[in-house]
Amino acid sequence: MSKDKSEYLINRKDNQYEVVIGLEVHAQVTSESKLFSTSSTKFGAEPNTQVSLVDAALPGMLPVINEYCVKQAIKTGIGLKAKINKRSVFDRKNYFYADLPQGYQISQFKDPIVGEGKVILDMPDGQKEVGIERLHLEQDAGKSIHDLDPKNTLVDLNRSGVALMEIVSKPDLRSPDEVNAYVKKLRSIMRYLGTCDGNMQEGSLRADVNVSVRKKGTKEFGTRCEIKNVNSIKFMQMAIEYEANRQVDLLEEGQSIDQETRLFDTKKNETRSMRSKEDAHDYRYFPDPDLLPLEISDDFIEKLKLEIPELPDEKKKRFIEKFKVSPYEATILVSDNETSNYFENVIKKSDVKLATNWIIGELFAALNEKNLEITESPISAGNLSKLINLIKDGTISGKIAKTVFEHMMEGDKDPKKIVEEKGLKQESDPKALEALIDKVIDDNREKATEYKSGKVKLFGFFVGQVMKVSGGKANPQLVNEILKKKL
Ligand code: ADP
Ligand code: MG
Repeated sequence: MSKDKSEYLINRKDNQYEVVIGLEVHAQVTSESKLFSTSSTKFGAEPNTQVSLVDAALPGMLPVINEYCVKQAIKTGIGLKAKINKRSVFDRKNYFYADLPQGYQISQFKDPIVGEGKVILDMPDGQKEVGIERLHLEQDAGKSIHDLDPKNTLVDLNRSGVALMEIVSKPDLRSPDEVNAYVKKLRSIMRYLGTCDGNMQEGSLRADVNVSVRKKGTKEFGTRCEIKNVNSIKFMQMAIEYEANRQVDLLEEGQSIDQETRLFDTKKNETRSMRSKEDAHDYRYFPDPDLLPLEISDDFIEKLKLEIPELPDEKKKRFIEKFKVSPYEATILVSDNETSNYFENVIKKSDVKLATNWIIGELFAALNEKNLEITESPISAGNLSKLINLIKDGTISGKIAKTVFEHMMEGDKDPKKIVEEKGLKQESDPKALEALIDKVIDDNREKATEYKSGKVKLFGFFVGQVMKVSGGKANPQLVNEILKKKL
């Protein structure tokens, strides 16, 4: 079923249906070792080199909780303004998978470590709050590799036992754009906290996407389908659009939606049924007898609160109040810690307005073109503030500054040196400018006469000529003043 974009539900002319989305985000906990063993979590190691006897589930092995992972989960809960549960329980979720040697996953079911919270989204038409249902800790499974051996499936257990936080949202999302904003905001909060690196290419952040549709104005939710394990925001959005349309088509044909688990085929851009949805009781959850319930004291939580840095929402508020940047600019500047640090370093010694424009405009475009992160910027914060000061004090014009900026992008050079070496300094000496202007007027006698007899539009022509003759270096303000006098 291939569809023309204009037919997508979200853009349908009659616009009768709305889509309802809830996300179960799996975020890999930033931690050197796994949730219940001391094996390394380092990405990209040789297959099966980071597997302890616990991870391989040899009979009789006992899991031991990694306190650091517990701290990371609590910190994330605090970042999500959520309730931290002082008592939580690890359960066995039983199912068979070739890459799950235990035959069950240790997860949390009835009593998760973190309860209800919220995330604020900055949408073009204002803020939107998305509820968090819960956050629980669980272990990751290994990885089946199907495309290495022509006949066999291989299993790599390096990932087996790595700590995941499953963050379950309420069904509060209403469009692919909101999903985009939600995942980015969640990632930004966890990166600020240092609890998940959010690297989607390496699978550190992936989501099960629950989608249903309903006629607008209906109170009840429709039956949902769950699209498993989507590992890019783009794919989440594509899967939602496809799935919502599929469901509307079924309803329009008078059919009903089966609650199922589906897969998103990124090549065909469609979702496919994987299995009918299992219910919680299918997993035969029960408390893991090898692990005691987790009991956390108030003191433990209070100590962790002291380690929480300023988070994006608070930083945004501070930037708007203290630096008078617009909400739009603030949202961009706080999107990650590195960008906001860079910005704050630049404005330590230079004008805020110019700095904001240069970072969001010129610098981001240049970094984007070279596919660089802000931490890899060839222009240091110190040198960008020097460039801004050269504009501010009139040494160079904004236009020349762009040339200097291009030179700076080629290597972190002091802009003052570039201006000197290339002779780019703005000409602000009135005597020198007068000489230039006299020559231009002399070369254009006729036009000067026309100007004097009332053709004032010609003023722009003279300014242009002077700028041209000076190689763009004449101080435009002075040129204006002197020209007015002379003409
Ligand atoms: P399960 O493990 O069965 O998938 P969870 O409680 O872990 O159940 O997750 C359910 C997810 O589905 C939540 O993110 C929730 O917001 C979402 N959800 C529940 N009902 C609907 C619905 N009708 N439409 C869309 N999403 C829904
Ligand atoms: Mg689910």
